[in-house]
Amino acid sequence: TSDLDSTSQFTGIFITSIKNALIHKRTEKLAFTDPLTELFNHRYFQETLSHEFTRAKRYTKPLSLMLIDIDFFKRFNDTYGHLVGDKVLRHVATVFKKSVREQIDTVARYGGEEFAVILPETSIEGASRFAERIRAAVEESRVIDEDRELSITLSIGVACTKITNCEKPSDLIEASDLALYKAKDTGRNRVTTFKESRLKNA
Ligand code: GH3
Ligand code: MG
Ligand code: MG
Repeated sequence: TSDLDSTSQFTGIFITSIKNALIHKRTEKLAFTDPLTELFNHRYFQETLSHEFTRAKRYTKPLSLMLIDIDFFKRFNDTYGHLVGDKVLRHVATVFKKSVREQIDTVARYGGEEFAVILPETSIEGASRFAERIRAAVEESRVIDEDRELSITLSIGVACTKITNCEKPSDLIEASDLALYKAKDTGRNRVTTFKESRLKNA
């Protein structure tokens, strides 16, 4: 074969491998993305939390977690319809993305109208400040639907591995979830931190 032939053959292989790499990346992105909000999905959240948990333990760094739940979300669906509910979900997702540290924090749709933010190397104080910033940003933002303005509030539960003794990633989720429950129970539209050193049944 001539030089020209082998060059074009090489180019062909090169292009194919780039194409494959791009397809692989795209498939991977789809597998880890929530289609409605384009945030990371539950599966990616679990994988990242587990990875960050191991890293935090190894380097004895704090790891914080935020669980976010939209207040009275059902009302948006019931009053204006499911599509408006979806719009509200996309809106808060945009605010979250703008409010966290790019490349450091992981924002995911935990399920339904619940979201999670993984905050590596972040103390409980830092995490609470971040959470408060997100809460305020959403409260101050407005969703416009036709000629109405919808206001949205969030309840946020925060926990940190340096405060609560966590043996496994699910312990940190449980602690944040208990804090979130307390935020709901004490009036919503607030950030609550889990301050106990142990989980009750751990
Ligand atoms: P609370 O303040 O206690 O959190 O009240 P809530 O109404 O937010 O909580 P509840 O769990 O009763 O309602 C959550 C609703 O979210 C119920 C479900 O139909 C709705 N939902 C879950 N996923 C989606 C979605 O993808 N799109 C829309 N539009 N609604 C969703
Ligand atoms: Mg909920
Ligand atoms: Mg809710």
